[in-house]
Amino acid sequence: MCRGQVVFYYLGLGSNRGDRAGNLVNAVCLLGERGVSILKRSSLYKTEPLGVTDQPHFYNCVLKTESALSASKLLEVTQEIERSMGRRRSIEKGPRILDIDILFAGDRIIRTNSLTVPHPRLHLRNFVLRPLLEISPSLVHPVLKKTIGRIYREGSGKGEVLLLTADAGWPEGEDLPINHSYGVLIPDE
Ligand code: AMP
Repeated sequence: MCRGQVVFYYLGLGSNRGDRAGNLVNAVCLLGERGVSILKRSSLYKTEPLGVTDQPHFYNCVLKTESALSASKLLEVTQEIERSMGRRRSIEKGPRILDIDILFAGDRIIRTNSLTVPHPRLHLRNFVLRPLLEISPSLVHPVLKKTIGRIYREGSGKGEVLLLTADAGWPEGEDLPINHSYGVLIPDE
């Protein structure tokens, strides 16, 4: 089989239905089982819903991953995981068991009918920027040509974001496919 080039993909995960932390744990495990290696995992954050505000707060995190999958194949994988966890696309921007966004695909810029990468709204969302700042502050946005640290400081992001402490964050002792513990600030590459 021909193996594609390995790409660092950053993924944004969110959940505001059911067991929010448990849903994110499941998603991380399912990604690991489908050829997406988790290199870094942010803490969990409890975040204010944007857009449709009359819905429960989200739990969010960001993952740095690597995979030989193409971006379009990765989108198929993430959508299959969303479906397998019971997500139904009922109310646009409404409550969801799981949402996975492809934030970055290395420094690639992708614009197709089904995929825009970097994610076109990531710089407007504190629920993405704050966890990204935790794990990769010096990552450069290839369209805006600014680091995550600078984008965050410039304040384009909206929404309140609360860092969840260990007892409310990633479950302790959970066997997640990653080689560091939750809540630890890891210097960027
Ligand atoms: P959502 O409701 O946020 O899950 O939106 C999913 C839709 O956004 C799908 O139809 C995707 O094809 C499209 N989409 C475009 N760009 C991206 C991206 N970078 N990550 C995830 N979905 C994307």
